Amino acid sequence: MHSLVILGSTGSIGENVLKIVDAHPDRLRVVGLAAHSRAARLAEQAARYRPLVVALADESAKEEFHAARGTFSGKLLTGPSALPEIAGIPEADTVVVAVVGSAGYHPTLAAIEAGKRICLANKETLVVAGAIVMDAARRKGVEILPIDSEHSAIWQCLKCGRPSEVDRILLTGSGGPFRTRPLDTFPAITKAEALAHPNWQMGAKITIDSATMMNKAFEIIEAVWLFNIAADKIEVVLHPQSIIHSAVRFADGSVLAQMGNPDMKLPIQHALLYPERLPAPQQLFKLADCADLSFEKPDESRYPALPLARRVIELGHTYPAVLNAADEAAVELFLAGRISFPDILKLVAGAVKWHKPLANPDLDDLDQVGTWAADWVRAAAKKTNALDIMP
Ligand code: NDP
Ligand code: MG
Repeated sequence: MHSLVILGSTGSIGENVLKIVDAHPDRLRVVGLAAHSRAARLAEQAARYRPLVVALADESAKEEFHAARGTFSGKLLTGPSALPEIAGIPEADTVVVAVVGSAGYHPTLAAIEAGKRICLANKETLVVAGAIVMDAARRKGVEILPIDSEHSAIWQCLKCGRPSEVDRILLTGSGGPFRTRPLDTFPAITKAEALAHPNWQMGAKITIDSATMMNKAFEIIEAVWLFNIAADKIEVVLHPQSIIHSAVRFADGSVLAQMGNPDMKLPIQHALLYPERLPAPQQLFKLADCADLSFEKPDESRYPALPLARRVIELGHTYPAVLNAADEAAVELFLAGRISFPDILKLVAGAVKWHKPLANPDLDDLDQVGTWAADWVRAAAKKTNALDIMP
């Protein structure tokens, strides 16, 4: 039996984690639930799953939680230390990190320091603090099991050979909603169009990241840290149907791929129950129903996030933290209707260009760099014509 703390339980991944808990009550139980501010939904979850502790990062949502808590008698933690604290409670053996954005790395590190097994959906944790997180996990002997579907696929395929036999990782991506849209119409892309992902139901931030392909850019960095592999051995391949979730080519030319319907319950269950494989609650994949599987090389002028990520990986130091924080701020501005779709990448590239890096950053450095990048993006977005002179 695993005892779970779920960070981000009210989100798209968090709700799917709870469906897997429902399907395997003899294997999984919930001891902690955490969210940002959606207190009413967290209270409903608390009433149903009866965790020992719940947490809300936004202190101002406390009263709403108390009003809705019903018969829930567990403890409520609030404020900026609430997630790191719940991530370390002694009753848990596993922490599922399903918060979005830069909210992930502090609680993940707290969970690692407390010796918890990590099931990681929040890729931003590795983009920002990959070196620190992987070092801490090694030092504490903690496993980091990926939930991201591509990384779950790669993890499964890698079991078929030795690390020295891996020739390259084939990281697949659907290409998002704008794979074939004429480039000259990109400035007119609306929020509703960018939020309509063709294959996956996800939270707003990752859906916009999928439309710009910043999500795939982050996933290259995530794979570098998780699998200890050089970025130039990771090839992005567009696969619009999202059936092959990624593949590994071995030295002898054999390509092993993992397939399944585009449903996050599969990689979530794989991580939560690892190393067991048990019947899954969702519809099972049928190869014969798959008429078409197509693949293509991504066009980098359509997806500037990909070459930008490769440059950022090469530059190292605090550059990946800037990439993450600048993207988070730019996506927020796009969702608020303040900038156009192409401005997202212009602003992120601008922050990367003007950043003054710090070598061997510690957590405080990463926090500061993140604040700098987000402030830079917000300030640049306000300046008239600033975006026309961006790189
Ligand atoms: P959602 O936006 O649906 O959910 C985000 C969750 O995080 C909510 O529970 C939210 O709480 C909580 N949260 C947001 N900000 C904070 C904060 N500052 N402090 C504490 N909690 C916070 O996101 P997704 O579920 O789509 O994505 C979660 C993570 O998983 C992301 O890193 C994403 O990249 C990754 N991922 C997601 C996939 C998907 O299919 N959705 C696939 C692969 C990876 P509240 O509801 O109160 O705001
Ligand atoms: Mg993914």
